[in-house]
Amino acid sequence: MIESASRPRVLVVSLGGTIASTPVARDGGVVPQLSAQDLVAAVPGLADVARVETLSYRQVPSGDLTLADVVALARTIAHHLDGGVDGVVVTQGTDTIEETSFALDVLLDGAAPVVVTGAMRNPTMASPDGPGNLVAAVKVAASPHARALGCVVVMNDEVHAARFVRKTHSSNLATFRSPNAGPLGWVAEERVRLVTRPTRAATISLTARDDVPPVALVTCALGDDGRLLERLAALGYRGAVIEGFGAGHVPGVMASAVEALVGEMPVVLCSRTGAGEVLNHTYGFVGSESDLLSRDVVSGGILDARKARVALSLALAASADRARAVELFVRVRDSLSASGGD
Ligand code: ASP
Repeated sequence: MIESASRPRVLVVSLGGTIASTPVARDGGVVPQLSAQDLVAAVPGLADVARVETLSYRQVPSGDLTLADVVALARTIAHHLDGGVDGVVVTQGTDTIEETSFALDVLLDGAAPVVVTGAMRNPTMASPDGPGNLVAAVKVAASPHARALGCVVVMNDEVHAARFVRKTHSSNLATFRSPNAGPLGWVAEERVRLVTRPTRAATISLTARDDVPPVALVTCALGDDGRLLERLAALGYRGAVIEGFGAGHVPGVMASAVEALVGEMPVVLCSRTGAGEVLNHTYGFVGSESDLLSRDVVSGGILDARKARVALSLALAASADRARAVELFVRVRDSLSASGGD
């Protein structure tokens, strides 16, 4: 066993969520109440893995977090890493982990491991998964092998890249999946086993003064006519992500509304299928991917709509200049994978 003083320093930052939720009244539901200190104290074995420090940062269901919260969190994490912490674990609600972890991936440069985890079963349920997830997350945050991976999500003993991971089930412990890639690895005994390493994401750096502008996410559904799109600019949205059918399609009747929207703000096209990528030139009908791209819609590439919305929001926060913001978005999008044949 490693001497205590030479164990890595890992900061656990708590934001609330199921992992921190207990009942307020005898027969009421659970709400986030436990601090980072409470979470760490409930798992005595952690001290054998790392010198754990704690920071209780928010106490909310994860649907109440905003991108501005995550931008502030990234600054706090960077500050602690500059101060000599070796790795960071963020505990939060699982509902929005796929977005917050990707925002951290794009906002943080540097090699130190940053790991997001949570729980599907709260501490009052039979076999809650929070303590095990916390141990696994701290092992990853303390591991030299997890350096330079970008932000990762550790749940159910698996390590997932923030750019790929999605919550795929409302209650199952194995809810986190990376449909385009599979997990990067797993945690077994004391080992962090990585079987693959992603390319590094391009980062976007923001100052404390940058506001994160609102970006709309519009999912296409059968029979849609696009009337919602006409209202977006008046509602104050500064960008939009359209989650289209299949390879990146909208109903033909919606195509002109998409084009009008492009006249008002950057519009990114993604697929609602949950895996694969937006195609470029396979279909030629009105509302197809090639039609929309010819109307200056920006391809979301391999990004799903929620992650594309994160990247576009951060790009718009970084630059008020539309062309520059789109350039930043595209740089992030293209850094997430290697491809031939472009
Ligand atoms: N069900 C959620 C969780 O897993 C609640 C939340 O996201 O805060 O933590």
